[in-house]
Amino acid sequence: MFDLKGRVAIVTGGNGGIGLGMAKGLAAAGARIVVAARNQDKSRAAVAELEKLGGQTLALAVDVADEASVAALFRGTVERCGRLDILVNNAGINIRKPAHELSLAEWHQVLETNLTSAFLCSRAAHAPMKAAGGGKIINIGSMMSIFGASFVPAYGASKGGIVQLTRALAAGWAKDNIQVNAVLPGWIDTELTQNARRQVPGLNETVLRRTPAGRWGEIDDMAGIAVFLASRASDFVTGTAIPVDGGYSIQG
Ligand code: NDP
Repeated sequence: MFDLKGRVAIVTGGNGGIGLGMAKGLAAAGARIVVAARNQDKSRAAVAELEKLGGQTLALAVDVADEASVAALFRGTVERCGRLDILVNNAGINIRKPAHELSLAEWHQVLETNLTSAFLCSRAAHAPMKAAGGGKIINIGSMMSIFGASFVPAYGASKGGIVQLTRALAAGWAKDNIQVNAVLPGWIDTELTQNARRQVPGLNETVLRRTPAGRWGEIDDMAGIAVFLASRASDFVTGTAIPVDGGYSIQG
């Protein structure tokens, strides 16, 4: 039920952090991974790590905010791997500022990297997934899909939008046997949140106090949900937004 042998998965931002954690789960379940990100040194290191798990892996450079670059990624994947079954829309950034200090260029940068990218990649995935008889799209939201915070006007808007995009795609593409779901990670220890810890006073203590599990998540905590949502086990699950957060979102 969880076997992904013969499946091809694109993971945007798969060269580090949550994307790499998910890619490791998918690779261990047998999928061939396409690591899609900008920094090719990081991507080469990720490919070496993923190949230790036994799966065939390749890196393709992409800027997910650029329509032509996204088109080339999907063309390259189908040319090199012959098919596409799984897409993880994970690439993302944050610019932590209150709204009155955020420039329009910064707003666009966050929205285009986090939200428009998921539209562009999902749109490009539709035809090859339909040709393969179905597919799985996993969009990465956030606790900021649910909650607000003063320092995330653009990031929170992008992550709220991810949940609604997920529902629209799920409703539209169910007839093509494409399931589309969102994962809402809690606080996971990555480069992104190491920056946040430096920028937001008291964040580390707040996360530890607020998270029932009593710890930050690790990237390997994201592997299981990726395998579930990419496999036959989730064939009747679509349009949902599943927190993977050590209980952060249920704490009163
Ligand atoms: P990282 O900063 O570790 O990873 C971000 C990834 O996105 C990198 O692989 C980066 O690769 C890639 N990326 C960024 N911009 C682009 C771009 N324009 N084109 C292609 N790839 C890009 O962060 P995380 O692993 O923490 O974050 C991954 C996702 O998870 C994000 O969507 C984030 O919002 C979300 N998330 C993270 C949480 C956490 O606690 N860490 C909590 C909730 C959500 P490169 O620079 O090589 O392009």
